[in-house]
Amino acid sequence: MVRNKGKSPWLVLGAIVLGIICGSLTGDKAGIFGVTFFSIYDVIGKLFINALMLIVVPLVSSSIITGIARMGNESTFGRLGLRIFGFYIGTSFLAILVGLLVVNAFNPGAFFTAHGTAVMDPESAAQLKVNLAEGSQVSIISVILQIIPSNIVDVFHGQMLGLIFFSLFLGYAISKIDTHPQSILMGFWQGVFQSTLVITDVVMKFLPVGVFCLVAKSFAASGLDSLRSLAVFFFTVIFGLSIFMFVVLPLLLKFVAGVNPMNHFKAMGPALVTAFSTSSSSATLPVTIECVEQRAGVSNRICSLVIPLGTSINMSGSALYECVAAIFIAQVYGVDLSLTMQFSIVLLALVTSIGIAGIPSASIVAIIVILKAIGLPPEGIGLLFAVDRILDMCRTTVNVFSDSCCAVLVAKGEGEKEVLTRTDLEFA
Ligand code: ASP
Repeated sequence: MVRNKGKSPWLVLGAIVLGIICGSLTGDKAGIFGVTFFSIYDVIGKLFINALMLIVVPLVSSSIITGIARMGNESTFGRLGLRIFGFYIGTSFLAILVGLLVVNAFNPGAFFTAHGTAVMDPESAAQLKVNLAEGSQVSIISVILQIIPSNIVDVFHGQMLGLIFFSLFLGYAISKIDTHPQSILMGFWQGVFQSTLVITDVVMKFLPVGVFCLVAKSFAASGLDSLRSLAVFFFTVIFGLSIFMFVVLPLLLKFVAGVNPMNHFKAMGPALVTAFSTSSSSATLPVTIECVEQRAGVSNRICSLVIPLGTSINMSGSALYECVAAIFIAQVYGVDLSLTMQFSIVLLALVTSIGIAGIPSASIVAIIVILKAIGLPPEGIGLLFAVDRILDMCRTTVNVFSDSCCAVLVAKGEGEKEVLTRTDLEFA
């Protein structure tokens, strides 16, 4: 079942550009017939994200269950798991190191101190309160406890780690039962898997509209003006993310997996655009699975494990951002960070990036944890609000791309020959 042939990339890229222009022009106040453009972008954008989120639970569960049930007795399972985790930790660590280098090289805090004032609108101040309260809840223990939920209903509420665990368990159990009930259950879950892919395809027909509204909403809320005093911070983050996405990961693809990175960028186009516009790797999950399996040609056996797991725990772009943001805030407060402090930030960024969810602004909570841990005032987070949403779009794109690279690396490591052999693909 191969679908999702090349569509016109210009339509989606045009929607992004148009979204930036319209959002910046209308801002969050302009409207028509008493309705602000902002709320129109907001409603349509939310509908698009909801439609994607709707597919996540059936798609992830059916994908893992069928993948594991087929793998069944394979003894390679442990090796595969080790490979996957090795890649996740390795790439997040590389990403943080890139962040550490760029933030020390550009010193964005000095520019802010010279040109900026920390103004906070009431909405941001209210959000800050919520984030400060949530900040204390991110810990490795809470992540570990999520792995085994006590109630099946929690699993279907989209609690990702629990869903993955339950699906792995059920898949394993199906591989152990008698042939007759086994084939019935396999047929059922394969049916669910294929139908959710069809639904994903239908939702993706609305990608240009969804992208336009979500991008316009972000730019209407942030406004280009707010970028000025944070310009150096903004570009430091963008520069770091670009080095990681366009240099580090392609080098791994080329020299470790032996594939052409350009082909992989093309294969992942729809997922990258969706991640950019939704700022949520969880909402992008159905599209990521579709791209990795149908366009990049990674087997369901690998994809069903790597992608859902990566979406919950592999956040390389967020890890990079957390490191840059924490050090930037320290710079603004005039705190000279020792090497040991910087090392603690690296470790904390690694751990908290594993703990955050694939939803918009999740990194904010992680940064609060880091600030508290190294003794900086958590209110410093308020400095980032003006640009966080736009940077969120960028780091989410990197998170999704990093997961997909892991899938390709693991698949190649397992000797899969079909990976990135399709030649009929356009970017989006
Ligand atoms: N929005 C990011 C994601 O969904 C998480 C973050 O805030 O960094 O991957």
